[in-house]
Parts: sequence; C-alpha cells; structure tokens
Amino acid sequence: MTRIGHWIDGHLVAGTSGRRSPVFNPATGEHTKDVDLASSAEVDAAIEAASGAFVAWRSTSLSTRMHILFRFRELLDHHREDIARLITDEHGKVGSDALGEVARGIENVEFACGVPHLLKGGYSEQASTGVDVYSIRQPLGVVAGITPFNFPAMVPMWMFANAVACGNCFVLKPSEKDPSPSLLFAELWQEAGLPNGVFSVVQGDREAVTRLLEHPDIAAISFVGSTPVARHIYETATQNGKRVQALGGAKNHMVVLPDADIEAAADAAVSAGYGSAGERCMAISAVVAVGGVGDRLVEAISHRIAKVKVGPGDQPDSEMGPLVTREHRDRVASYLDQATREGAKVVVDGRDDVPAGDGFFLRPSLVDGVRPGTRVYDDEIFGPLLSVLRVDTYDEAVQLVNANPYGNGVAIFTRDGGAARRFQFDVQVGMVGVNIPIPVPVAYYSFGGWKASLFGDTHMYGPEGIHFYTRTKVVTAQWPDPSTSRVDLGFPRSR
Ligand code: NAD
Repeated sequence: MTRIGHWIDGHLVAGTSGRRSPVFNPATGEHTKDVDLASSAEVDAAIEAASGAFVAWRSTSLSTRMHILFRFRELLDHHREDIARLITDEHGKVGSDALGEVARGIENVEFACGVPHLLKGGYSEQASTGVDVYSIRQPLGVVAGITPFNFPAMVPMWMFANAVACGNCFVLKPSEKDPSPSLLFAELWQEAGLPNGVFSVVQGDREAVTRLLEHPDIAAISFVGSTPVARHIYETATQNGKRVQALGGAKNHMVVLPDADIEAAADAAVSAGYGSAGERCMAISAVVAVGGVGDRLVEAISHRIAKVKVGPGDQPDSEMGPLVTREHRDRVASYLDQATREGAKVVVDGRDDVPAGDGFFLRPSLVDGVRPGTRVYDDEIFGPLLSVLRVDTYDEAVQLVNANPYGNGVAIFTRDGGAARRFQFDVQVGMVGVNIPIPVPVAYYSFGGWKASLFGDTHMYGPEGIHFYTRTKVVTAQWPDPSTSRVDLGFPRSR
C-alpha cells in the first residue's frame, strides 16, 4: 500500500505518529493509499524548520524571489497533467475539471510573480520640513494553511503563492482525503530553487490543526473548509493572538428573472449545480425561479440532466465523476428521502442508473418546491442535488437570498441591466455573477464570502492576500541638517 508522508525541511519524511488515514479512489471505491497523520511533535518539527528558514528568506531580494516564482510557474505549467491526474485519483473529479482547477490555481502563482510591484509602499517627501515619511510591507514570519478536500491544488495555491512571495515561510496542512498534490508542489518548489524550510507539508487531521492553532511561532492561519470548523479555527487562533482568515461553507443561489434566456439559464444551472459533482463552494445549490418561470426551468434542467455523462474521472467522455467518499455520497443521497418527507418533489432521483461497481457515484438530482426552514434548503448538502424554489417577485428573491446565513456566491440571470445593477447593490453576498453562474474572481481581485461564509477581515488571494501576509511599517525620517537642529520637548507636529 502506498504511504503518503510529510515534507519537512526540504525532505520527504515518513510519519512517525503511527496514525494513518485511508485514501480512496472514489471511482472504484478502492482503498489505494494511506496518508500519515502528523503528531504535535511532527508539526513542531515543520515549524522549527520554517522558523529557521525565515530570516534568510525574508532577506532574499525581491528579484531573486521573483525568479524562483517564475521558475515554479513554468514547472507547474509543465506538470499540469500530473497534478490533474493526482486530483482525479484521489478526489474523483473528471480530467477537464481537474485541469481547470490547476489553471485557476496557477493564475495565483502568476499574480505572485509580480511581487516587486505588489510590495511597493508609499513615500511622502517633505511631510514636514526636512522630514520624509514612507511605508514598507514586511512578511509576518511562519504562516499556515489548512485546506479542504474539494480543491486539493487550487486552494493551497490561493494561499502559498502570495505568502511565499511576500517573504513568509508556509506550512500547509492539506485535506487528508486527497493529500498527494501538496507533495508534488513541494518537489516543484524545490526544483524551482526555493530554500529548504520555506514550504513544508504536514499531513494530518484535528491533532495537527490544533497544534498549528496553538503554536507560538505561527503568525497567521489561512483556512478554507466547512463553516463549523472555520468558526472554531477563527475563534481558537485569534484567542492565541494570530491573524486569521477562515473561509466557510455556502448555499449559493441563482435567481432567474422572468425575462432571462431560460435555455441559457438552464445550461448554467446544470453546469454550476453538477460540475465537480456539486462539491464546489461556489456551486449553485438553489435555483430561485421568479414570477412563473419555474415550470419551464424545471423542464429544461431535467432535459439536460438526462444527458449528463456520469463516470470515472479518467474516462475522457465523463462529465461528472463520483463523490469523494462513500459516507459523503450516502449523506447527499439521504436528502432525497428527506426532501419527500418535507413536502418537496423529487423530479430527478440521482440514485437511479448510477454506474456499476463500488464507486461513490450519485447522478444529478433535482428537487422542486423547496422552501426555507427545511433541511434540504437550510443545510449545505455539497453534492449533485439542485433545489428549485419559486417566488413571485424580485423583492421576494432578494429577501430569500439575504435571509440565508451564508453569503459566498450568488448569480442573477436576466436581460435587464437595471435589474442586475439593482441586484448587485441589494444582495448581501460577497461574490456576484451577472449571467455568470460561478463568479470566482480572477487572481488579481480577491475571493471571499460574507456572513457565515467567512470569518476574519481579509478575503483570500489577490490584493487582500498580499495585505493578509504582510504588515506595514511606517518610517518617519530626517537626515542631519545642522541648520535646523534644536531641542523641542513639544509633541512632534508638522512644520
Ligand atoms: P472540512 O471543514 O471538513 O475540512 C477542512 C480542513 O479542516 C481539512 O484540512 C480537515 O482536515 C480540517 N478539519 C476537519 N475537521 C476539523 C476539526 N474538527 N478540527 C480541526 N480541523 C479540522 O471541509 P471539507 O469537507 O474538506 O471541505 C468542504 C467544505 O469546504 C464545504 O463546506 C465547502 O463549502 C467548504 N469550502 C469553502 C470554500 C470557500 O472559499 N468558502 C472553498 C472550498 C471549500
């Protein structure tokens, strides 16, 4: 059985805790690998190596850092298929989707290649007579990233590209369900010339996370995962004096106004609802049909669902792969009976006609007549189950979205520019799509939801990522000029 270890101080090391977790191929249900789960002592070793590397790394010139980042970017480009294959093997997503994840991740490395520009400060000459004031950005030290199973390549890249570029040392704790891409990243960083200790990987579960949250040498924590864990991470790490950004779960609505192109809206709902088997934090999970478009929409979505090719991610014609684990598949499927008990109508039951074998498959499911206050609506299901809610007016649609505790992504489908503009003003959600179902911002903006989808003040990657991984220092300077020097005990003020 293949064992997956840690990457500490520039070396692949086998775990010593004696604890392991199984890694499955979700398409076959086979237990293919074991991942070592780090003890607190192993986490300490990674942090010690990172602390040891920090002073030299923060002193490394911006141009040298930039050259390493460019080389890393080239290596990632060369290894796109290898990273995607690891994602498909352990997560299950289909090849095209895995390659899309890698591409969106690499965009963050490309953004970070501009680090000399990103770290520029401000300068005010002659702020007072003979006095100049300027600001500089400096790295925090050793920072950690804790990432979810659903984007084992892209989400780590959201974090470590900017963190490392800014001069920090980064300790990654990937999901134990699909840990392998993180080790390939470590090898590629090394090949690109990154000094040992600047990037480390500790595989693990709650024990490793707890140590990262407590360790006095960890300056900041970036987390992406479910809302209960995000809240726990935020509360614990801030109590321990750390800077924290903790992104949580989601319930993303797609509001379809009566004037929308219903065929295009149905294409978008199916793509965004069932892509990656619904295991995306920006997946559409609730379609809100406004003013009588519900019947046409449900029919158009059902028609498309029948054609979705569900199969193993390594088959070129598969459009949707399995779910990540058997338990998760069963949990998602259980919402179909729950929906019936709650008075909604199961229009398409994804338990029918699943591919043969032991893979963790569920076909796309569609539930109509869903209402707030039911578990099917209120819970984050995180699978290929799309709910349809019907409302009479635009105002009711906005009220529904704003009453939801999550605020990650939302989309509006309409031909009316005025309505779309009003929607972007009214809606209490961090990322808004106008006729775009998955509005994940490009790498030079920042990613983050509102309300229970994000704990902390800074969104992830882009300009806010640079702010998160640096702190500013403001210098007020005067060079000796004997003609103006004198004793003055008053509070310094501008002259
Ligand atoms: P998860 O919360 O179960 O796990 C995330 C990470 O936290 C993993 O590394 C895991 O090992 C660790 N972890 C799990 N339980 C823990 C605990 N009790 N204490 C300490 N650490 C713990 O999430 P997941 O199932 O891997 O990922 C899916 C979730 O992530 C969904 O809720 C999804 O919406 C969310 N997500 C959010 C975003 C976003 O940007 N907001 C992006 C991707 C995924």
